Amino acid sequence: MLHRPRKRFGQNFLVDQQVIAEIIAAISPQPDNHIVEIGPGFGALTTQLIQPAEKLDVIEIDRDLVEALKQQFASEKLNIHAADALRFDFSALGRSMRIVGNLPYNISTPLLFHISQFSDQIVDMHFMLQKEVVERMVGVPSSPQYGRLSVMLQYRFHMEHVFTVPATAFRPMPKIESAIIRMMPIPRSDLTVRDEKILARIVAAAFSQRRKTLRNSLQEFMKESDYAALGIDPGLRAENLSVTDYVNVANHLSA
Ligand code: SAM
Repeated sequence: MLHRPRKRFGQNFLVDQQVIAEIIAAISPQPDNHIVEIGPGFGALTTQLIQPAEKLDVIEIDRDLVEALKQQFASEKLNIHAADALRFDFSALGRSMRIVGNLPYNISTPLLFHISQFSDQIVDMHFMLQKEVVERMVGVPSSPQYGRLSVMLQYRFHMEHVFTVPATAFRPMPKIESAIIRMMPIPRSDLTVRDEKILARIVAAAFSQRRKTLRNSLQEFMKESDYAALGIDPGLRAENLSVTDYVNVANHLSA
C-alpha cells in the first residue's frame, strides 16, 4: 500500500529490526497478557506482540492504516479500534491492561494525562517518546528537567528510562532522539492525595512561574501560616519541592 506519512498524526514508522526486537524484549509479552497498542501504524510492533499475547487491542486514528491492518492481520486475537486515543475510553477494554505504543510526539503529553485516569486498570505501560519528554518525566527535584509533568506522573507511576533510540530507527527520520519509558502504576492505597484537582492546580500554578518563589507563585492559595504549618520555606522555588511536598500542600489546603 502506498501511504504518504501524515505529519499531523506524528507518523514516524519504526524500521530498525534490532530496535524493534529490543522494545519487544523490554515489554516481554506473555501468553496471558491483555495488550493494548496505541498507534500501531503498519504493525511494526503489532506483528511481534500478536504472537505471544492472548488478546491484543489496537487504537489507530488513520483510517487508511486501519484498512491496511485489517488486511494484514486476519486474526481473531486482534481488535482494531478506529479511534482517537485522546478520547478513547480505556476503561471499556477491561482490567489488567498492558499498554504500549510508539506514540505520536505531537500529542504525547495530553495522551499521558488522559491515560493516567485509567491507572487502576493498568498493569504497566511502555512508550516511545521524545527523549527530552522522557527526561522530564523521570526528572528529579532541583533539576532543570523537573516540572509539572514529573510531579503529576511520578505521583501516579514508578517510571524508568529504559533506553534511547536514535532518529535513524524511523522513516521518515525525526529531527530528535527518542527513548523508551516504562511506567508502573503506584497502587491506589499508596496515593495519599485527598483531592487530585487541588494537587493539579497547585502544581500548575507553581511551575507556571518556575523562576519565582513559592511565596509569589502560590500567593493565591497559601498564606505564611500555611508554610509554617507545613514546614516549607516560602522562599523556595517550584523545582525545590518533592512530589511528597506537593501532596502535603494539596492535603493541607483541602483539609
Ligand atoms: N507503531 C508504528 C511504528 O512503530 O512504526 C507507528 C508509530 S507512529 C510514531 C504513530 C502512530 O499513531 C501512527 O500510526 C498514527 O497514525 C497513530 N496516531 C496518531 N495520532 C493518534 C491518535 N490520536 N489516536 C490513535 N492513533 C494515533
